[in-house]
Amino acid sequence: MNPPDEKTRELLRLIPQVNELAEAVHESDEGFGLPRRVVVDTTRQLLDSLRASILWGGDGSVSVPTPEDLDAGTLARKVLSSARAAMQPNLKKVINATGVVLHTNFGRAPLPSDALDAVVETAGGYCNLEYRLAEGERATRQEHLERLVCMLTGAGAAMAVNNNAAAVLLVLAAIARGREVIVSRGQLIEIGDSFRLPDIMSQSGARLVEVGTTNRTSLSDYSNAIGPETALMMKIHPSNFRIVGYTGDVPLEDLVALGSQHFVPVVEDLGSGSLVDLEPLGMSGEHTAADSIARGADLVTFSGDKLLGGPQAGIIAGSSEYVEAVRGHPLARALRIGKMTIAALEATLRLYLDPEKAWSRIPALRMLSEPAESVRSRANRLKRLLGRAEVPGLEYAVTPDVSCAGGGSLPTSEIPTYCLGLRHEALSASALEARLRGGDPPVLARVKDDRLLLDLRTVMDTEISSLAEAIGASIT
Ligand SMILES: *Cc1c(COP(=O)(O)O)cnc(C)c1O
Repeated sequence: MNPPDEKTRELLRLIPQVNELAEAVHESDEGFGLPRRVVVDTTRQLLDSLRASILWGGDGSVSVPTPEDLDAGTLARKVLSSARAAMQPNLKKVINATGVVLHTNFGRAPLPSDALDAVVETAGGYCNLEYRLAEGERATRQEHLERLVCMLTGAGAAMAVNNNAAAVLLVLAAIARGREVIVSRGQLIEIGDSFRLPDIMSQSGARLVEVGTTNRTSLSDYSNAIGPETALMMKIHPSNFRIVGYTGDVPLEDLVALGSQHFVPVVEDLGSGSLVDLEPLGMSGEHTAADSIARGADLVTFSGDKLLGGPQAGIIAGSSEYVEAVRGHPLARALRIGKMTIAALEATLRLYLDPEKAWSRIPALRMLSEPAESVRSRANRLKRLLGRAEVPGLEYAVTPDVSCAGGGSLPTSEIPTYCLGLRHEALSASALEARLRGGDPPVLARVKDDRLLLDLRTVMDTEISSLAEAIGASIT
């Protein structure tokens, strides 16, 4: 690297000491109440980045700061605004107007209020997490969930861990470590975010034995692969994709029958694992956990925050023999579920005891099943509120479109919905999208055909007025 030229050195000399600038900001009236460490950290970041742009800038991507940029007042204002921003929570509420009900990036299932109440009630103080009150003795945290899961799935035993990826890892490690697991090539999936089944398999210490082809696997493919090293056969829900056309797959019950001839257990990773039948909604492709258990799966695994509509968790249910083996594995401790999740999951599962309650009180189920006409009336309400706000340059109209389940569930189900389509005379649809995303609260929507579509299916009744305000505020 060449030594910096005179102009560069001049600029570098204008950069104040971190402590000097931080102290000035912290002592100023505007800096009142800002923690010193936040001010110091923000100051250091700002000065470091200015130094870097002086040294490396000017190549077109970063511009070189001017002496005015380095003026004490300008720097202090920048530090103040960054420090204030750093004091805002990072994790915050957003309005999901994308129409994707189980959006992984937006936290998947919104929790039922019953679940929130349970968390508040138990987590703010002490609770009987691992204690049996009647006997006054130590117990396992799984007891709060096990009977409920068993009642809802017909399983003989059950437990829950941190998430479904953990459930799959744990089952494989506990039952198949050092041995073989037979999986159809059509089911070796990647769910997204580096959850690739073959990788999970190798992490668990189990050896993958692939059978069949991408589009077709037959029972004889499985039976030919069974040998002395076979620990289990695994069926995996294809979640976020579908193979169509010339396809063939082995039904679970046939696999179970084959397994019982050879004393090989069958595990099904259901992914979403709904606890209610979604067929009446015209959504096919998901069978319930109870269905898999009834068809003979020795173990099933599924997520708590997909179609179940509860907190992030992975549920393992099936025969006591295998659940015991899983429970006793050292990884079970490493992957264990926390008390807040148990509280939320128990409350959510309780709603399923009365399916009517499940449909009406679990937001994910309510959103998936809400008739389009009812979504339309919310779109109209938003339209009226925007009309009252008189946002200049903004055009909008209620328009039909389709929502989707998301979360790797029901990828081919298109759910008829209504959106409010926005257009602005001076802003492109993507500029509009960025404005709303940067608003307070941030609003996430989708761009389609030069319009910004706000899908009201995933917007709750209680969010409509703040949505209207956020739109007005971010455009004007
Ligand atoms: C989503 C999914 C997983 C991972 O579940 P998480 O709860 O996100 O860890 C595993 N298997 C299948 C088939 C899935 O759809």
